[in-house]
Amino acid sequence: MSPVRQAVPGTARVCPHCKAKILESASVCPVCRHHLRFDPNATERQPTFSPLRVEGTIRHPSVGEPWEYTVMLSIRNDRGEEVVRQVVGVGALLPTEQRTFTLSVDVFAPGDGKTTEKDGNGR
Ligand SMILES: [Zn+2]
Repeated sequence: MSPVRQAVPGTARVCPHCKAKILESASVCPVCRHHLRFDPNATERQPTFSPLRVEGTIRHPSVGEPWEYTVMLSIRNDRGEEVVRQVVGVGALLPTEQRTFTLSVDVFAPGDGKTTEKDGNGR
């Protein structure tokens, strides 16, 4: 018997500190970085790989009316069906202001990383 409870891969939960939707398997919230388990050795889990990271900057010209923007996120499965569609942020750009938007997808493979029970530093 393993003392470590294994969640179904992809199971989500709500961070008790910042209310963000995060992976059940996370020991440290990737949004607010609060610890989620009683494990003094827990560190933020590093992704096995990050297959996607895009960044773009929008600058409002020095003249004209303010611009409103919506940051939309969509995730589709292998059949092309949309499984997630949500607005992750809205705002406005005043003349000469700019915003930089970054999207990354981090993948975590089992048995990888420093916080697992097999290869951890503290067990
Ligand atoms: Zn959090």
